Amino acid sequence: MAGKTYIVEHLDEELGPWSELEYLTIAKESNQAGAKFCLSSIPPSLTLPEALKTVPGFTADGRSVETLYADNKSRVCLLDPAATKELSPEDGETFDVFLFGGILGDDPPRDRTSELRKKGFEGRRLGPKQMTTDTAVRVTRLIVQEKIPLDKIPYVDNPELRINKNESTEMPFRYVKGENGQPIMPDGMVELIKKDSEKGFGDLF
Ligand code: SAM
Repeated sequence: MAGKTYIVEHLDEELGPWSELEYLTIAKESNQAGAKFCLSSIPPSLTLPEALKTVPGFTADGRSVETLYADNKSRVCLLDPAATKELSPEDGETFDVFLFGGILGDDPPRDRTSELRKKGFEGRRLGPKQMTTDTAVRVTRLIVQEKIPLDKIPYVDNPELRINKNESTEMPFRYVKGENGQPIMPDGMVELIKKDSEKGFGDLF
């Protein structure tokens, strides 16, 4: 089957620093894996960072995914925390486009993925725990490109990050465990989390 395309439909008005780091990581990892990465529904008013725009294989599109794939809907798989079927390596033969919600995680989850579910794409779940968008793309890639089953991928759940000597903060998400045993996060994310946690997280996830 043709190379894979990962599409993140940007569902927020703005592009915050957390999303920016996540999207840059997705772009770089997709390129290394020989896949394409598209950010859809990008309003013309939104300026994307140069570092992202220049990653080979990256495209941004003002149109939404339902317009982009109007004639090819069956090629698209929505990664949906509420789907009844888990994503499997065989899905890599059925679909070549994988769609994710461009929304920051929230705790408890508000199910904003429903905005994409309504559009009628076939859905698959990546297990019961909420993942950050870059983690969800990473896990999907491991399953459909590397053919590693969902339950054979090593994870870290709810990691605790030390902010300073006295404080730590728990990230309420599932991450892929890296070779060093630590959760894989975008470059610069730990520093950003530390900075933001000093201000108070609020709705930042
Ligand atoms: N709380 C969010 C919501 O409102 O739906 C979840 C957002 S999650 C941070 C961003 C995207 O990653 C989701 O829209 C979905 O595409 C994907 N995702 C995250 N965890 C997932 C899971 N366990 N199964 C399937 N997709 C997942």
